[in-house]
Amino acid sequence: MKALTARLAPPHRLAKVMRRAETSSGPSTRPACASTEDAPVADATDADSAPRRSLLSLPVRTMIAVTLPLLCVQATGFVLFWMMGELSPSLLFLYAIIAGCSSALTATFAYNAGQQVAQRMASVASVLQRVQDGDYRPRLNVKLGDEFGLLAHRVNRLVEVAAGRERRLMDTALVDPLTGLCNRSLLTDRIRSAVAISQRTKSTFAVLVLDLDRFKAVNDTLGHAVGDRLLKEVAIRLRQTVRDTDTVARLGGDEFVLLLVGDEHLAVEVADRILKSMSTPLQTNGQQIDIGLSIGIALYPEHGQDDATLLRNADSAMYRAKHQRTGRCMFDGDTRRVQPSQLSMLSEMRAALSAGQFELEYQPKLNTKTGLIVGLEGLVRWNHPVRGRVPPNEFIPFAEETGFMRELTQWVVVEGARFSAELMRRGLKLRVSLNVAAQDIENPAFCDSIGQILAKTKLDPQRLCLEITESGVVSETETALRNLEKIAGLGVLLSVDDFGTGYATLKQLQRLPVHELKIDRSFVSGLHTNKGNQSIVRTTIDLAKQLGLSVVAEGVETVTELRTLAAMGCDEVQGYFLSKSMPAGEVVAWVEMRNTLHASSSELYFEMLTGAKRQAAVG
Ligand SMILES: [Mg+2]
Repeated sequence: MKALTARLAPPHRLAKVMRRAETSSGPSTRPACASTEDAPVADATDADSAPRRSLLSLPVRTMIAVTLPLLCVQATGFVLFWMMGELSPSLLFLYAIIAGCSSALTATFAYNAGQQVAQRMASVASVLQRVQDGDYRPRLNVKLGDEFGLLAHRVNRLVEVAAGRERRLMDTALVDPLTGLCNRSLLTDRIRSAVAISQRTKSTFAVLVLDLDRFKAVNDTLGHAVGDRLLKEVAIRLRQTVRDTDTVARLGGDEFVLLLVGDEHLAVEVADRILKSMSTPLQTNGQQIDIGLSIGIALYPEHGQDDATLLRNADSAMYRAKHQRTGRCMFDGDTRRVQPSQLSMLSEMRAALSAGQFELEYQPKLNTKTGLIVGLEGLVRWNHPVRGRVPPNEFIPFAEETGFMRELTQWVVVEGARFSAELMRRGLKLRVSLNVAAQDIENPAFCDSIGQILAKTKLDPQRLCLEITESGVVSETETALRNLEKIAGLGVLLSVDDFGTGYATLKQLQRLPVHELKIDRSFVSGLHTNKGNQSIVRTTIDLAKQLGLSVVAEGVETVTELRTLAAMGCDEVQGYFLSKSMPAGEVVAWVEMRNTLHASSSELYFEMLTGAKRQAAVG
């Protein structure tokens, strides 16, 4: 009996165990019933693996447990009557009939009761087994009023709590917490499922990689709270644009991916719908933010037969779309030319921007008339944690080709303006020039960001100069011209960089709202001996004077070059003769020291220039 009782934990104790499990905080690997008090349930948990010690079923054991004591009592009574000699044959017969009937009735009742208990226990075990298999749907019938009702209620509650916890865990593991979209793990899983289904059904699907333009600038200038709101808004618009059956994921940062079941036609149509939906600016705190984005499309099976290839090719197409400013781009043979090493460099550059590995160094500019340092040109440098200082010629062309230059330029302008404002606060009269890609000028959002940066840094616009290469100026469109006028309207200075290497016409120069021409270093090198270069430089300076522009010569490496340029009327010079580019921390001290020395002994500088004039006159 004792053993049987131990095997059959009472339902109210099981219910108690369930309540504890359900109220225990957080998911735990510790068994819910690990105490000695709950040992019977722990036995039940191991029932599947433990060898069975009884060959009899629960109803039979209940029947025996109840009927056997009754038979013993009846047998004892019979023996007592017999010993007292009061047992007549008729009484014996009657006694036997009564004992037999009562035993039969008791046995039947006990068997049925045991069977009911067994059925209910089996239903509980069945529900728990399905929960163990990950199916949280089954529930027990709850008939309140008895202990099994309480047990069933507790089991159901436990299943609900466990299902909720698993749902939350799944959400954490598979959903992007900011936007509620799928994360990379879930997207990868969905693409693999789509591949499996498409192989069976011979259907096709598309992977679209979307990347926001100038998102980093939004974060830097307006703060991360605004950046997060922008990402959430993009997520909402994407969900509204696609069908419920399509997958929308955020891979991190401002990179989104769509998985669409359908053909090329559908993918292009959806991409156009998305571009249209994003054309409405986001309003936040009374501020209007343009949401520009680029979309790359890769189709299964033409452009890849697994998730990694499809994502990589869609990513390549996205960068092509960004570079060509077409909004969307379908993966094609050309984008295959992007080498895996380049792709790694691309992701490295993006990571480097977030990790603060890019740095601006500054090269001083000297005013030839006063001998004072009047400006600095900010030059971007990449401090790679493994490769060390990566030369600009190794990453700038690639950044331009892939469209990454847009993000980099944004960073350059934000950082350069911040430094210029710092110089202004320190009382240094220096103009900071920054290099800007021609494609940035085509982007109206970039121009808007200049105004925002000026407002945020409270920078005098005259302390900021944007240098655009001559080749970029030549290809300027009407949009670019309007944007340049917008920037110039803010008071920011504009410079035509590398002048002489492109083919800008006089008419273009006249139309552009520029303030400065920068003579390319190729004309400055060996200027005093090269008659051809002398003619070009002299003509350029004369032209600039006619157009009311100032002239800067770059790449000045010797005192003779400086003298010659000063003699020709060049306003400013920069180059190794003066100084190489220096980190922001060093250049301030350098300029202060240089200008202080100049103030105390400026005659030395002018004597040097006079010598130059004499030499030029002799030449
Ligand atoms: Mg430059």
